[in-house]
Amino acid sequence: MAQMFTPPLHRQRHQFVIDFVKRNKPKKVVDLGCSECSLLKKLRFHREIDLLVGVDIDGTKVKKKMHGLAPISTDYLQPSYNQLRIELYQGSVTQKDACLRGFDLVTSIELIEHLTLADVERFSEVVFGYMTPVAVIVSTPNSEFNPLLPGLAGFRHRDHKFEWTRAEFRSWALKVCLEFGYEVEFTGVGQAPSGQQERVGFCSQIGVFRRLGGRDGCNMLLCDDAEDVSPYVLLYSVNYPSLRDHNILRRVLVSEVLFWAEKLKRRWMEEKTGAHRLCQTEGGGEECLSERHVEMKEKQTVCEAGMRNLVEQRGKGVSEDQEEEDEVFGTNGQRQEDCCTLHRCVSVPLDVLWSCCPKVSSLSGSLSNLRRLLMDDPEVKLSQDGTAVLVNYQEQDLEEKEDPDELEDSGYAEAGQCSHTTEQGEDWEANV
Ligand code: SAM
Repeated sequence: MAQMFTPPLHRQRHQFVIDFVKRNKPKKVVDLGCSECSLLKKLRFHREIDLLVGVDIDGTKVKKKMHGLAPISTDYLQPSYNQLRIELYQGSVTQKDACLRGFDLVTSIELIEHLTLADVERFSEVVFGYMTPVAVIVSTPNSEFNPLLPGLAGFRHRDHKFEWTRAEFRSWALKVCLEFGYEVEFTGVGQAPSGQQERVGFCSQIGVFRRLGGRDGCNMLLCDDAEDVSPYVLLYSVNYPSLRDHNILRRVLVSEVLFWAEKLKRRWMEEKTGAHRLCQTEGGGEECLSERHVEMKEKQTVCEAGMRNLVEQRGKGVSEDQEEEDEVFGTNGQRQEDCCTLHRCVSVPLDVLWSCCPKVSSLSGSLSNLRRLLMDDPEVKLSQDGTAVLVNYQEQDLEEKEDPDELEDSGYAEAGQCSHTTEQGEDWEANV
């Protein structure tokens, strides 16, 4: 059967939440009736969120896909500054639990129609009276749209206890606002065919509730007259790697420094020996430089010039370095090559790394921080005065072929967003 909505309705509901998140940037978000966590999986890519919680009464459903919320390799390779924590609970939205408090946004997507009307009252009390979030998004089927759904007899799902008209939804929502100090806007997703929108409304109706007074509307500590209850069961929790963790920051910075130090060393050595290559075509001829190459080339030139200058400025310092076990090449490398020592190194000044590699400067914040962070790392060898990274030099370094693309990349792939196919619609939605 042809799909009735493009994109499918469940995706439009999730997109509605994502758009709200993009506009309002809530830091703490809880999805009630999270089922197989498909909305949470999309929300975890929103860097502003630092706590993402899912609650569902059905622990089996949650457990089925919860491991899909674990960080993936790019989260470790390219951690961000935010500190995302995800928690999943088995529990009922009709019960209070201390873990539900302090949220900026609560989402309840196609949940309330699975509750009895008595439980909807309890849900209202828990969400608007106990949790008191800054905003709440509630979506539920609009029964006025049902006659347009092909082959539908009765409710859209066998577990639905009711399906409300727009007026019924409105009446519940306005009562909630009056009782708990919120305002509400009505909207929806799933457009009716042209000419019928006003008569039947949206297929899924949505209420966006905002607490009166915004973030200052209710001080949690002052409002807190509730006992500290915790009937919910924690099923899963995970902390995403963050650059605010000192060890992670250092690991990422060290990889970046080593990568760039190695690159700069090769560039400089190629210059020094005149072995600088132009991009070769398959036939061996010189390829016309593409725009990308030109940009890359310019960047390299700036770096090389900077490096040459700084290495030259340090010409005097080299003699001081001669007491070191390592041989340090500068532009006056000939004199140093004469010294026969065990290890040969190229010295890459930290300030060159700092000015050539934006990621190194943004990660470390200052040149002195950069030195401090590298100082105690066993992978990094600094010169005696701590102003340069020493990179091992081997003859074959010059012989190895270099991939021109690598020069532009920082050694890590851009974070690809993992796409998941686990999305949930209602019974009826699976049929159309
Ligand atoms: N929100 C999901 C989404 O957008 O993908 C789909 C929700 S699904 C239609 C309804 C969910 O509500 C089910 O996973 C069900 O287990 C859950 N549920 C029903 N009663 C509940 C209750 N009292 N407390 C918490 N979750 C409940």
